[in-house]
Amino acid sequence: MKVIVIGGGCAGMMAACRAAEGGANVTLFEKMPRVGRKLGITGKGRCNLTNNADIAEVIKNIPGNGKFLFSALKNFSPADTVNFFESLGVKTKIERGGRIFPVSDNATEVIDALLKRLMILGVDVRTNSPVTDIVAAQKKIRGVLVGGKIFECDALILATGGASYPATGSTGDGFKFAKRLGHTVTEILPALVPLETEEDFVRDLQGLSLKNVRVKLLADGKKISEQFGEMLFTHFGVSGPIILTLSRDAARLLAQGKFVELEINLKPALTPEQLDARILRDFDKFRRKTIKNSLVELLPAKLIPPVLDLSYLPEDKRVDDITQIERRRLEEILRGLPLTITKTRPLAEAIVTSGGVDVKEIDPRTMRSKLVENLFIVGEVADVDGFTGGFNLQAAWAMGNAAGLSVNLR
Ligand SMILES: Cc1cc2nc3c(=O)[nH]c(=O)nc-3n(C[C@H](O)[C@H](O)[C@H](O)COP(=O)(O)OP(=O)(O)OC[C@H]3O[C@@H](n4cnc5c(N)ncnc54)[C@H](O)[C@@H]3O)c2cc1C
Repeated sequence: MKVIVIGGGCAGMMAACRAAEGGANVTLFEKMPRVGRKLGITGKGRCNLTNNADIAEVIKNIPGNGKFLFSALKNFSPADTVNFFESLGVKTKIERGGRIFPVSDNATEVIDALLKRLMILGVDVRTNSPVTDIVAAQKKIRGVLVGGKIFECDALILATGGASYPATGSTGDGFKFAKRLGHTVTEILPALVPLETEEDFVRDLQGLSLKNVRVKLLADGKKISEQFGEMLFTHFGVSGPIILTLSRDAARLLAQGKFVELEINLKPALTPEQLDARILRDFDKFRRKTIKNSLVELLPAKLIPPVLDLSYLPEDKRVDDITQIERRRLEEILRGLPLTITKTRPLAEAIVTSGGVDVKEIDPRTMRSKLVENLFIVGEVADVDGFTGGFNLQAAWAMGNAAGLSVNLR
């Protein structure tokens, strides 16, 4: 059995290992000078391999077709990922939110371990080898074109990744190949991506990180979703964990032409009454000061000018002169600071690509194409995307495992 894998990323290397373990003669083509370029930058170079979650929890954290992965995850769960890497000598540890990392905090250790395994198994790893076309006839793959030469195979595993961070080699080639083979490719959008805002004041807030805030995502004034946690202001808008999580919905809504807004509740732990009481206390304490100076214990200094501006309160108005209506307006802004989202940052800056080969056209147990008999489709090239926390890599490992095992069963 001659198997070709296109793409030496997470899913491709896992698939190649499994196929070779099952006895296949495997060649892996990687367009970049080295395999695993994207893997090397995961988890800020520490590689958040997977998450210490059960299968139901993993699926919940993969909004892009998590259910499609049920059987692949059943056969290769987060525990299997840990065991697999420990068997390759990569010791792991669990951190906040169940995130699993190598003890070394070094993604290169993961890449080296996979590469060593591929070498031991005799996989022919060819780097600097971009596949430029797939040769197929009568719904069957014959081979691939690399450097003008055809390499024949009995089965092909497509593991070219998504289209984000193109410098890592994931430039979306697989979408074109799959389309040409008759597959449907769903709309490609960025996910886990920062958001750009219309408001100029965010520029002055650049670098300010807010912890324990609740952010609501609205489309045409209707609440779509909300997240609690940490966010960050940047020179173009907003980023940080909860913004990245909301970005998937935001990207879709923007693509539909909706008016997209965020509302930041800066004091989500307080009820409206508690917030009013807190402000009255501060007003009493600072009654001879200006409103600007009365908020220093409630808000980070940088945030006071825009909050007052949005509340139509002049910064130098004395606290004594603030009316009840003005106080209520201020509280409204504190409980829902509005930001208008104009666009997401480009796909190139997204952590994952949402959209890809339609999973309805892929057998969920084997990752085999339902349209082309000897084609397998794994990883981010398929329409699968998850939240941060190790869920995208878990999806890639599980899909690679399923295809690599199935390829020998044909
Ligand atoms: C900055 C960043 C941080 C991330 N951190 C995490 C994290 O900590 N945890 C997590 O779970 N996920 C993380 N992700 C997401 C995760 O890296 C991806 O979901 C995962 O790499 C997808 O695996 P893949 O094998 O499908 O694709 P990739 O890993 O992108 O691999 C695809 C490979 O195919 C090759 N290729 C493409 N076209 C061709 C061609 N024509 N010929 C030959 N080779 C080709 C590419 O060069 C590439 O090496 C992160 C992503 C980014 C960008």
